[in-house]
Amino acid sequence: MTGATAPYPNAVPVGVDPTRASIARVYDAALNGKDNYEIDREVLAQVRTVAPQVNDLAWSNRNFLTRACRFLAMQAGIDQFLDLGSGLPTAENTHQIVQRVNPEARVVYVDNDPVVLAHGRALLEENEFTHFVAADIFKPDEVLGNEVVRKELDFSRPIAVFQVGTLHHYLGEDAPELMRVYLDALVPGSYTAIAHFYDPQDEEHSKLARKMEEKFVHSPMGSGRFRTHAEIQAMFPGLEMVEPGLVLCDDWWPDGPRIQPLNLVQECIVGGVGRKP
Ligand code: SAM
Repeated sequence: MTGATAPYPNAVPVGVDPTRASIARVYDAALNGKDNYEIDREVLAQVRTVAPQVNDLAWSNRNFLTRACRFLAMQAGIDQFLDLGSGLPTAENTHQIVQRVNPEARVVYVDNDPVVLAHGRALLEENEFTHFVAADIFKPDEVLGNEVVRKELDFSRPIAVFQVGTLHHYLGEDAPELMRVYLDALVPGSYTAIAHFYDPQDEEHSKLARKMEEKFVHSPMGSGRFRTHAEIQAMFPGLEMVEPGLVLCDDWWPDGPRIQPLNLVQECIVGGVGRKP
């Protein structure tokens, strides 16, 4: 970590183990952030040996999050957001995007990484409509029962729940059931947005996906599953998919014309938005 945002150069926040890579810091490194350690950059370097464009995976994910925020705030009229696995603060965070549309839109971020918690509290809790909660996002009852979540979000009105770039770090087989618990707590007209590492199940992509998975899982970060379209689609139980459905992140309402074809890595991450009928 650089000293740019810390009071003391190279200071390590309490509770952080600089010898273990963290998902949030590896992702930050892939987005060219500065809140990461050597061990995190080493994970990326390892993945880069099999997937030289690995940073594009992170950008495809983050850009999908940005567009989903804009869609939900501007077109769907959502003004309450539960952002599960917020990641480290970066240039365009959920609250900044949705509060440009509606300055009183409420955002509750949830993460369990100690560096995210330190920075999140400092940088993400920018105003009275934005809050940060430390909890395990793969334990929905814990999140839904959290005092701040209950106080800041009105569960009698629609809420958008984000699992963007998170569920591929959940290695259990019951991600659809986990999502159902979140969705059961929401009223009709609520939404969820998910982006997830994807195995397109053709020889070339599957080989690449397996190699990346191998590197992520056997790294000090320890997780990163590439699932099939059907497996990821099952994480939107009972929802109506917003057009164009669950597609490559870069194909979900891209911002402008594409003058370069997608590379193989960009074809290994999908995203979608579903609405509770
Ligand atoms: N959602 C952001 C985005 O799409 O740009 C960040 C994605 S980042 C790849 C995944 C985030 O999920 C990290 O910040 C990590 O700390 C968080 N995370 C992973 N497992 C978690 C868990 N069990 N509970 C809470 N947060 C978790």
